[in-house]
Amino acid sequence: MNLSGIKKFALAASLMTGTAFAGEIEVLHWWTSGGEAKALKVLKDGLQNKGHTWKDFAVAGGSGSNAMTVLKSRAVAGNPPTAAQVKGPSIQEWGEMGVLRNMNHVAEKNKWDRILPKKFAQHMKYEGNYVAVPVNVHKINWMWVNPEIFKKAGAKIPTTWEEFEVAAKKIKAAGFTPVAYGGQPWQDATVFETIALGVGGAKFYHKAFVKNDIATLKGKTMQKAFKVYRMLQKYTDGKKSSGRDWNLATAMVYKGQAAMQIMGDWAKGEFSVANKNAGIDYLAVDVPGTSGSYLYNIDSFILFDTKGSAKKAAQDDFAADILKNKFQVTFNVYKGSAPVRKGAPRKQFDNIALQSMDQINASAYSGTLLPSIAHGMAVSASVQGAYYDAVTKFYNSDMSPKEGAELLAKMIDAEL
Ligand code: BGC
Repeated sequence: MNLSGIKKFALAASLMTGTAFAGEIEVLHWWTSGGEAKALKVLKDGLQNKGHTWKDFAVAGGSGSNAMTVLKSRAVAGNPPTAAQVKGPSIQEWGEMGVLRNMNHVAEKNKWDRILPKKFAQHMKYEGNYVAVPVNVHKINWMWVNPEIFKKAGAKIPTTWEEFEVAAKKIKAAGFTPVAYGGQPWQDATVFETIALGVGGAKFYHKAFVKNDIATLKGKTMQKAFKVYRMLQKYTDGKKSSGRDWNLATAMVYKGQAAMQIMGDWAKGEFSVANKNAGIDYLAVDVPGTSGSYLYNIDSFILFDTKGSAKKAAQDDFAADILKNKFQVTFNVYKGSAPVRKGAPRKQFDNIALQSMDQINASAYSGTLLPSIAHGMAVSASVQGAYYDAVTKFYNSDMSPKEGAELLAKMIDAEL
């Protein structure tokens, strides 16, 4: 085939797949666990069906801490991927560097301003322009429960931290691990933010972790949260939990080894791939003291400035498809999250997801819809890093709750 033959062939192929250009898209993500990979495949298949080539850039490690380090070095080398999983205020930090592509043309065509809740859409914009596309909403303040273990131990599912301690004691006495725990900084940070919310409530959380008010960060309520955290630590399997991945902790719950795990609803993806049924094999309840509040975590992708119309077309399709109802339903059912767009069909979701969707609306109304600091939704990456360091240092030392709160305040203050 001569050159014009090849061009004609390529044109015919792209017409068949419905896109003007078939391009390659390299996507940085950290969705490597069973449930995460199943959800990711929906995204990948969708693009491949349009004729684009998916180049996988997976960096394992829950919450993306490892992925962010790798992304930075690729960007510094002047060779960023086409799209990367980046969240919250970090989106604006990347925007400021001037390396992101303005996606307003896709947003306008697909009415993103209308279909996205305003609070969530804001996270996706830099200087008023869309530079990222949101995928889902994860709720963080869930506790995953093995009801069989509670039954065997004669324990009641706790709704307060006092009840939590009573139940944990009984479960331990019955020979089970009360708390499935993964000792990694991001997991420490996840558990601690839910405790702080449970102990202090929504206003306290907002003042401490969104406003970074120093007096609140080191005050009595934060000290109480550290005290509860120390109590919870007693009911993990101690040294064995050090470095454990979150999905292995989830497995302890569904295998009948541990009674509870505090984790965002990506854990549901793991229960599903293990063929466990919600409401029977496992339950999802609010972390003690957090009912009525919703700690949110939105997964999203930033799109880097790229050359060539084929790559741009692939980016456009990538961004547009993510917010279509079909993708929102299939992907989020596997991922354990709720659709980020308004009015997505509810039929295929289970009760946990439906509850989450209703809670988003209710908490938005009552002012208790809060960004997760552990998952990069509340503050800059550097303040988030200080929060991680302080919480992890506390967990892995014999610091008193008062010392923990003081360290937290000091470390965050240094980054403001
Ligand atoms: C992400 C989830 C992911 C989880 C564990 C969170 O920060 O938002 O999508 O499943 O980390 O990797």
